[in-house]
Amino acid sequence: MTDTTAPQRSNLLGMTREEMEAFFLSIGEKKFRAAQVMKWIHHEGCADFAAMTNLSKALRARLEEVAEIRGPGVVYEGTSSDGTRKWVLEVEDGSYVETVLIPAENGKRRTLCVSSQVGCSLDCSFCSTGKQGFQRNLTAAEIIGQVWVASNSFGPRNDTANRPVTNVVMMGMGEPLLNYDNVVPAMKLMLDDNGYGLSKRRVTLSTSGVVPMIDRLGDELDVSLAISLHAANDELRNELVPLNRKYDIRTLLDACQRYLAKCGDTRLITIEYTLIKDVNDQQQHARQLAELLEELPCKINLIPFNPFPHSGYEKPSRNQTMRFQQWLADLGYTAPIRSTRGDDIDAACGQLVGRVKDRTKRHARYIQSIQIDAD
Ligand code: SAH
Ligand code: SF4
Repeated sequence: MTDTTAPQRSNLLGMTREEMEAFFLSIGEKKFRAAQVMKWIHHEGCADFAAMTNLSKALRARLEEVAEIRGPGVVYEGTSSDGTRKWVLEVEDGSYVETVLIPAENGKRRTLCVSSQVGCSLDCSFCSTGKQGFQRNLTAAEIIGQVWVASNSFGPRNDTANRPVTNVVMMGMGEPLLNYDNVVPAMKLMLDDNGYGLSKRRVTLSTSGVVPMIDRLGDELDVSLAISLHAANDELRNELVPLNRKYDIRTLLDACQRYLAKCGDTRLITIEYTLIKDVNDQQQHARQLAELLEELPCKINLIPFNPFPHSGYEKPSRNQTMRFQQWLADLGYTAPIRSTRGDDIDAACGQLVGRVKDRTKRHARYIQSIQIDAD
């Protein structure tokens, strides 16, 4: 039986630098302890205060009492022949989330696909996570915990030149901007030198278009932004991405412009366009898309729909996919098809848990392909 009288220990894993500093001040310690402990946690993968030898014995003992470093439990871990590593992680309430680390073919990158929620409330018609409904938001510790677990599997890492995880994409389960208060601290840790030290171009948040939160994100962080557009007219997008009824395409693209203006550099928005047979894969759709994006500094990624049972949609043929790509090329857009090899095509987004072995490979190919021009 759990002892309900025991005081709750603070989990340091998901704390940003500011939060950790406030924590140390609250226990009567100096702020600089935060940087020391963060390095132990995120650089060394250490979860044991006793091993933190640059802290006094008294402080280590105190930390044992009032704090903990608790990451998700690893339920499954595997490496496939192409080097893709995958984990099924158990979070607080016994839910599972999946994290996949995909090495680039040239060996230069290792991209981690991270989940932000268990399930998703937005119910996009072509997404299996959406079909599962929403269970709950992940905490900051559970989000950064995915990066922690993946990084730890490579052992201690003083050598920042050889990082286990070089890129993160928030493209696992869930809508990250509907879990803003946990996603932002986790992303701050990804960027912090005492955390994972990733550059803002190597951390990508993908959203289906929660406009007010895009504005808020732009005020706080300037990570790379990917927009799940999938349709170039409101009628069709209302059907595929119901959130469009609240924030229509024009409103969304205006928010993208504001975001880029805040970044103040040469950044491009990534436009994700999932191609669905006979739904959005015709020439008129390519024309509309090109017209729509005329003013927006962006790159388009074409993602052939990844079928799942009872979705009611089909993946377009390879020929049709290439025709669509050619139509865009004729209109001035180089739009890579984000699938590479194999006879099946990848999807992100929560189709993994429960069918781990079968699904992760496709997922991995998708993530591998979308990161090709992320440098
Ligand atoms: N909720 C966020 C991030 C997770 S989804 C978002 O929607 O952007 C990551 C990407 O996978 C999104 O572009 C999403 O539209 C796409 N996706 C979801 N289900 C898919 C499927 N069955 N086939 C192809 N792409 C899919
Ligand atoms: Fe949610 Fe993204 Fe899936 Fe839409 S595509 S249901 S926003 S996870």
